[in-house]
Amino acid sequence: MNAYTHIALLAAPLWLIAGCDASTGGTDSGQCQLTSATTATAKVSPSGCAILSRDTSACDAERKAAGFSGFWLKFSCRVKLAKTSGATPYIQATADGLPDYKSNYFATSDPCYDPSQASGHVHNPNSIASKSYVVQFPQTPSGTSQPMTGAVVGLSINGVPVFGNFAAPGDDIFREAMTFDTCGAHPTPTSAYHYHSEPYSISYDDANFIGVMRDGSPIYGRRDPDGSLPTLDTTGGHTGVTVDSPSAPIYHYHVNEQTSTTAGTAGQKQWFLTKGSYHSTPAPCSTCM
Ligand SMILES: [Zn+2]
Repeated sequence: MNAYTHIALLAAPLWLIAGCDASTGGTDSGQCQLTSATTATAKVSPSGCAILSRDTSACDAERKAAGFSGFWLKFSCRVKLAKTSGATPYIQATADGLPDYKSNYFATSDPCYDPSQASGHVHNPNSIASKSYVVQFPQTPSGTSQPMTGAVVGLSINGVPVFGNFAAPGDDIFREAMTFDTCGAHPTPTSAYHYHSEPYSISYDDANFIGVMRDGSPIYGRRDPDGSLPTLDTTGGHTGVTVDSPSAPIYHYHVNEQTSTTAGTAGQKQWFLTKGSYHSTPAPCSTCM
């Protein structure tokens, strides 16, 4: 994708982005193409989702030549990374928002549809469609903490967006959690598949790299590299070493457990990706809703 295409995407009206045609996962061969660069590992969450090994060899050299290093090299090749120029340069990720595993939320005619991925959970009425996300990240996190607003607050390594620890207005996120598929996500009424909580194809009770929040800080699983559960601040992170920065401490978020205090779900627990606030200032995003 060239710079002009990026401009066109950024300039696209919201109705166009939200109205993308249904997916995508398939081809004439009838195979689910989205899984092609993945291999299931032996580690499986209690819900039945295998942690995937993601092969990034097809884009690794190109990314390194463009100056990317560290956790950025772990993003699936389906996620396109670029650096913007200008007064405030950003890292810009372009993604279709589709998972790289099968889900019960694909249309039943899609080769990536798998009814077993419902795992006895409640099925919401929505389905997955391809999106055109262009998500930007500061190259160096800076600025002050602020509440998360809108829908997309970060991007995970497989291109599925991260949403906050809150539901659409009027809904209870702990009640919505009943509709997550076995890998921990569900689609919105506009067919945007997304994670609020621990994304089991990427991380389950470990120190794995999950993605990056829109303020440029990385997100890791529940644990630090030494296996401990860290003490977190009010934005759900802390400064310390990570699997990608083993000697230089950096600020990073962790999957963190929260307990509902809302009538109807009070006492229910969930491992969320955010506490609802950014640690520093998020980059602007016209496709994040
Ligand atoms: Zn940590």
